[in-house]
Amino acid sequence: MYSESFKKSGSVEVICGSMFSGKTEELIRRLKRAQFANQKIAVFKPLTDNRYSDEDVVSHDLHSVKSRPVASPEEMLDIPGDIQVVGIDEAQFFDDSLVKVCQTLANAGKRVIIAGLDTDFLGNPFGPMPDLMAIAEDVQKVHAICVKCGSLANHSHRLSKDRNLVVLGEKDLYEPLCRHCYNNARKAGDQESAPNPES
Ligand SMILES: [Zn+2]
Repeated sequence: MYSESFKKSGSVEVICGSMFSGKTEELIRRLKRAQFANQKIAVFKPLTDNRYSDEDVVSHDLHSVKSRPVASPEEMLDIPGDIQVVGIDEAQFFDDSLVKVCQTLANAGKRVIIAGLDTDFLGNPFGPMPDLMAIAEDVQKVHAICVKCGSLANHSHRLSKDRNLVVLGEKDLYEPLCRHCYNNARKAGDQESAPNPES
């Protein structure tokens, strides 16, 4: 379980899991606790993610904290010196330079809390997340519930046939599945999309 004892020396924390796993809720919970302790926070998210609001990190149950959409991780270095906690949502959409930026912030004594998808819809490690997990002092995997069998879910299964890596959407486009149900769904999908031998 995650601990809040790193704050004096700077640290990197990663919260990751599939869609609908409560990553953003956990990010917001930690940020609000920091605010209750009168710590100054700055929150960022990638410019691409405007599903709910351009101004807020918004979780699915609509608890939110103010955030700044940025095009590149370097912009996160442009913060007032008295900021103690930096939150980053949807971190999987940033490029690999996010890793260096998080190191720079943590080395400057800041507590960096990152939330993101650990794997993409094909089940592969997503963007800078694996490297962030490697350098982090603390990693928490959060889980959704498999919509097919009720087990813990760690996969985001895309319901459409779109093959683009980044397709933003919610319950209309993705469903959380466990490993077993995800593999079955992928197999069924591959058979559906295989060319018809008679055509
Ligand atoms: Zn399942």
